This record gives sequence, structure tokens and C-alpha cells, in this order.
Amino acid sequence: MQTHEIRRRFLDHFVKAGHVEVPSASLLLDDPNLLFVNAGMVQFKPYFLGQQTPPYPTATSVQKCVRTGDIEEVGKTTRHNTFFQMAGNFSFGDYFKEGAITHAWTLITASQDEGGYGFDPARIWVTVYQDDPEAAEIWQRVAGIPAERIQYRDGKDNYWDMGVPGPGGPCSEIYFDRGPEYGKEGGPVVDEDRYLEIWNLVFMQDERGELSPKAGHPPVGELPKKNIDTGMGVERVALLLQGVDNVYETDLVRPVITKAEELTGRRYHASDDNHEDDVRFRVIADHARTSAMLIADGVNPGNDGRGYVLRRLLRRIVRAARLLGASKPVMPEFMKVVSETMAESYPELSTDFSRIERVASGEEAAFLRTLDTGSRLFESAVADVKSHGQTVLGGTEAFTLHDTYGFPIDLTLEMASEAGLSVDEAGFRTLMAEQRDRAKADAASRKQAHADEAVYRELLDRGPTEFTGYTELNSEAKVI
Ligand code: ATP
Ligand code: MG
Ligand code: MG
Ligand code: MG
Repeated sequence: MQTHEIRRRFLDHFVKAGHVEVPSASLLLDDPNLLFVNAGMVQFKPYFLGQQTPPYPTATSVQKCVRTGDIEEVGKTTRHNTFFQMAGNFSFGDYFKEGAITHAWTLITASQDEGGYGFDPARIWVTVYQDDPEAAEIWQRVAGIPAERIQYRDGKDNYWDMGVPGPGGPCSEIYFDRGPEYGKEGGPVVDEDRYLEIWNLVFMQDERGELSPKAGHPPVGELPKKNIDTGMGVERVALLLQGVDNVYETDLVRPVITKAEELTGRRYHASDDNHEDDVRFRVIADHARTSAMLIADGVNPGNDGRGYVLRRLLRRIVRAARLLGASKPVMPEFMKVVSETMAESYPELSTDFSRIERVASGEEAAFLRTLDTGSRLFESAVADVKSHGQTVLGGTEAFTLHDTYGFPIDLTLEMASEAGLSVDEAGFRTLMAEQRDRAKADAASRKQAHADEAVYRELLDRGPTEFTGYTELNSEAKVI
């Protein structure tokens, strides 16, 4: 089953059950705690927090998500994308645990002819929170899951809250057993590669106090209205229904790998021992998609915040492609493939294609100007460190790579680790801070010069008068 279809079936299932279909929010939805939207519930937070009255009792969406925290996992695990689609159903004081479990169970186990995903019920495992026997009871009664396939987990894994006093509640996660060839027997608490997490159900029922139940502290009360928040990973369901090994080989991601094979002359899965190459292919495919989605939502490459994440993703692609043997720019082709595969669900990738392609290619061109010389500098620094029997690359080298050659620090860290070295990060940060201070001082003096000129002009306009400019300018200078 194609990813577009998996997404559509999810929405249809919940619309049929009376949910309002709500479009995905932008990845850049304003939230003081988040760089990017990372879950379906983010756009519904004001309802869960009681700040706004929801216009509907139940809703469903497929939310674009970016998790930068998963970037190191990409290509190495079978299941982590930086961009993925989280399908969710939400109840604002309407149905609760039994409703959420029944809905999820029906969708995953109904046959494909009936509009479901057709998973074999005998291969489904679930986890529940240690203090939530009610959820375990419902799973047995409603879904017929035997006690042996229900595992209890502590707050660290199976309790959800927002990190501050407010709503919280136990989670129950749904896993699919991929079989003995994928890992050890014993359920998700033993092996999360064999038992693949596909769906997380959050039962928002508690008022959490200063201390979190995640760390074993009891909640301070019960919520007056109980809510449901769920998230199903569309790419993970696709991996299972398409019978491929990992999320990078699903129908919307794999075409970039194929294009990368074409552009680099290297083969994906060419043999068992070129694991490093395979990781690079997957990184390219994952990051190309994430970059396109970020640019579509308005991010431009830059040196901090969101822009830095995009820069890091794009430069990681360029480096991976070079290491695989690409000799020409790759962005135009990669962006084209992403747009062609993803536009059915995200038409903006097609309507805004020329801008997306321009931004990605511009960043590639900028990095290609310095990549080779920077890489040579890196290699010789590594050789130098090793020849002295040491294991740490200096902060000065990392700073030069960043400042002169445009190597994001994470890239240097990654390259160093590939070479078996660590990096003097503290030294790097000190040099960065010094540079920032210098830049601030420069900006302040420029502003001062500019302000002096403006005051001077005003004086000329006004004619002779008492001069107060210096005191005002000084107080402004302090603020800068
Ligand atoms: P994992 O333990 O595998 O990292 P998670 O517990 O962090 O997943 P949740 O926060 O529960 O994930 O998110 C809900 C669902 O979204 C997960 O059950 C999974 O199907 C999907 N999901 C989460 N992170 C990713 C990711 N990086 N790539 C693809 N799908 C993801
Ligand atoms: Mg995770
Ligand atoms: Mg998990
Ligand atoms: Mg989870």
C-alpha cells in the first residue's frame, strides 16, 4: 500500500467516525518551546491547555513533523526520519481510553478490503504505563490481546506531559512484531527493532504538579475533562505494508536513493559490507525530503535556529553525495525527485518548486566552494593529531572549519568521530563566543556612528539648541 493511501485511509477512518479533518499546521507553527512542530497535538495545544474552546469535540489530522533530535539516528536505525508524517486522532473531552483503543485496533486490523491496514492481530504487542491497569484491561477485553503481549513500562517511557505543571497522562504504544529475523524474542521491552513502534496513544487524565510522574512523582489531581491525543507514524506503517527493511526504502523516500545511485555511480545494498555507503544513501534520501519540506514552509539556510538546522541538513547531503562519488551539484535532481514523489500529499512542493530548488542549490553552491579545501584542512589536522598519538581535534581547527570553510560544527563532530577522534568543543565554543562579542562591538560602533550622523542632521535642521545627544546615545549604546 502506497504512503498516500495509508494517510488517506487514516483520515477516512476517523472522519467516518465523526472526527473533523484538520489540515497539517506549518512546520513553523509558533511555539516558544519548539524549533519545529514535532507531533500532531502541537496545533491543538490551546484546547488541551483549556486556553481556547475547541470548535469540534473530535479531530483528525496528518501532521508534518520534524525531529532534529533524531538526526543522528537517521540511516542507522530502521525507523527514524528527520521529517515524517504523524497521523493522529484527538478527543477534547469526548471519548476516552476505550474509544481510542477501539478506533486504533479497528483501523490496524480491519482487512485492506474493508479500508483498514490488515495487520495480523497475533503480531501486535502493546505497552501500557505501570500505573494504568485500566488500559491493559481494555486491550484484553476490546482487542483480545493476551496478557503475554501487554508489557508494562515506567514513567520514563510511558508517561506523557509537557515538561511543566499542567495536563499529563499515561501512554499506550502499539508495536508490530516483524519476526525472528529482525531481533530478539520478548516484546518491545527487549527489542525495539524487531518490535516496531507504530502508534502512541496518550490518555490525558492527570494534573501534573511541579514534579513529573515521568520521574515517579504522583500527579496532583485529575483533569476535569479527559482528552485523547494519538500519533501514528505513517512511514512506519508504510515500511511494514510495503515489506521493506526500513523507512528510507518506502515509496516516498526510496526514489531519492535511486537518483543518488545514478548520480554517484555507486549501488545501494551493493554488498553486505558497504554499510557506510548505505547509511549515506539513506541520509541523503531522508535529508533531501526534510530540506524540501522546510524550505517549502519558509526556512532559509542560516547560522542559527531553524536556518542552521536546514544548513546542516543540506551540507550533510552534499558531503554524503561527494563521499559516494558525485562530482557535480546534486540538489536540482534531488529536489526534483522529492517534489515529484511528495507533491500528491504536499502540492506546495510542486507549485513552489523553482524557489525550493533555488534555495537548496544556492546552499550547495556555497558549500562546494569551500568543501574541498576545508576537507583537506580537516584531513591534515587529523593526521597531525594522530601523529602525536592524540585523540582530540583542536577547537581552533573546528573554528576555522566553521568560520572560513562553512562546516557546521555538527558536521565536524561527525567527521572527527568517523576518523576516531573527538573535538575540543569547549575550545570551539570559546572562540565562537569571542567572535560574537567582536561582531557585537562592531555593530554597536557602526550604530553609534550612524546615530551620531542622524543627531547631527537633526541639529542642523533644528538650529542652535541644547545638545542632549550624548547622554541619549550612551543609554542606547548600553541597551545594544
Ligand atoms: P521511537 O521510540 O521509535 O523513537 P517515539 O516513542 O519517540 O518513537 P512518539 O513520540 O511516540 O515516538 O511519536 C508517535 C509516533 O510517531 C511513533 O509511534 C512513531 O510511529 C512515529 N515516529 C516518531 N518518531 C519518528 C521518526 N523519527 N520517524 C518516523 N516516525 C516516527
Ligand atoms: Mg523517539
Ligand atoms: Mg518510543
Ligand atoms: Mg512513542
